[in-house]
Amino acid sequence: MPNMERYPEHVRPFLIPEPAGDMVYVCLDCGQTHPTDDLLYTCPGCGGVLLIEDRDFDRLTKIPGRTWQDIFDFRRTLNHPGLRGVFNYHELVAPNVPLEDVIYLGEGHTPIIQANEALAAEVGRTFYFKNDGQNPSASFKDRGMACALSCLNHLVRSKNLGKVLAVCASTGDTSASAALYAAYLSDKVASAVLLPAGKVTPAQLGQPLAAGARVFEIPGVFDDAMKVVEELSDNYHVALLNSKNAWRIRGQETYSYEVAQWFDWDVSDKAVFVPIGNAGNITAVMAGFLTLIKLGIIDGLPRIVGVQSEHADPVYRYYLEPDEEKRVWQPVTVRPSVAQAAMIGNPVSMPRVIRLVREYNQRAGQKRVNVVQVTEQAIMDNMLLANRNGHIVCTQGGECLAGLRRAHADGVLSAGEEAVLDATAHALKFADFMQMYFDDAFDPAFGITPREELKNRPESIAPEVECPAPGRPLEDEKFRAFVEATAAMVARKLGLRKK
Ligand SMILES: *Cc1c(COP(=O)(O)O)cnc(C)c1O
Ligand SMILES: [Zn+2]
Repeated sequence: MPNMERYPEHVRPFLIPEPAGDMVYVCLDCGQTHPTDDLLYTCPGCGGVLLIEDRDFDRLTKIPGRTWQDIFDFRRTLNHPGLRGVFNYHELVAPNVPLEDVIYLGEGHTPIIQANEALAAEVGRTFYFKNDGQNPSASFKDRGMACALSCLNHLVRSKNLGKVLAVCASTGDTSASAALYAAYLSDKVASAVLLPAGKVTPAQLGQPLAAGARVFEIPGVFDDAMKVVEELSDNYHVALLNSKNAWRIRGQETYSYEVAQWFDWDVSDKAVFVPIGNAGNITAVMAGFLTLIKLGIIDGLPRIVGVQSEHADPVYRYYLEPDEEKRVWQPVTVRPSVAQAAMIGNPVSMPRVIRLVREYNQRAGQKRVNVVQVTEQAIMDNMLLANRNGHIVCTQGGECLAGLRRAHADGVLSAGEEAVLDATAHALKFADFMQMYFDDAFDPAFGITPREELKNRPESIAPEVECPAPGRPLEDEKFRAFVEATAAMVARKLGLRKK
């Protein structure tokens, strides 16, 4: 038990929460509610998409917003494994889960890094990357997975379910994350993942294999594998870990809580950029800020800007029509995209997006959500530009930067508005796309021509003396000759002056 004397009196009673809340699934189609002590992914009544609601949310509004800020700020200094990471915001995530059932693998509280002066000047605006690639499986998916697996852990233990099989379809990162968290719970959860064959990077394929998941490669693109997983979860006893699982959304809402906390709970002058694939993340980001404003933890909502590649842009197309009444939802057929994690033509969370965009704009009293479209060329160029300025962003992070430049050029942002870009995964997961750029080796379907100034290649140094090899070191004289000759060649290539 931590020493409570260290903390101000007004936060002490709240720092270590007891299980609470009245959590229910709410169907976005028919409005029915369903209990959460069963695993549900679609409405048993009508098949609609679900979100989770706390019917006892009012208890939280009795605590002033300022006090909530203090609770979350002071709680970060507690050494309590059940209140680390996304569960720092326990009351807003899964208040029904007792702290001893929380799974923490180091997710959340990712850094927000301000762009240097040169990059900000090139873009024309102050902006930051929030590095969600610095999560344990190297993508933001760990936020939702920590929540979903903590809930599953609680359910399995409290209902004696025995061992469950968790399944997901994935563009690469969901499966990496699901397999990792399931591996931690390997006495209770086994995992199987379905990947579109050849459509995930080698790193993303290696992750679930290393974590011991059953890995199935399915013909087609993600949208096809998703349908197979839905068929499985409708007809067999499995736990679904796709973002149809509404607990994943709850966990991902912490992205917004952390952004607000980082900026001292004032985000009204911020524009938060999110790449859109299956649309779970943008759903969560909007829902998160809405929760904060309902509790008076923030006073104003930030702008939200969704970004899509022109090779997978159904959400962008939907919002092109300004008149809400006239909008028609239409999935698209995707084309190859370097933002492969977002290469989705029929996002599962679209009903959630439509609901939340409406609520978000209503609450803000103005249009506060935009969607912009970017080219494949701009995604790759900006990914590399960001990496060249000290950011570890993946292609989807490059997509966000491309989106910021698009929004800036189109006059979407207000004067003085600062941008926070979601770097959704680590650059290393997408090393093969960088390599294709350096080698000018993209299939023409991508439509990418590398810019000479962003290309980079290793330079081979082969001095004309005897060289060492693994297990075959050189003797003193020869080694001396090797070092001198090699250093001289490197110095010549770099144009170094002698001291
Ligand atoms: C999943 C993912 C996305 C897309 O998020 P959605 O919730 O599917 O919209 C973007 N970037 C990365 C790196 C991802 O793993
Ligand atoms: Zn329903």
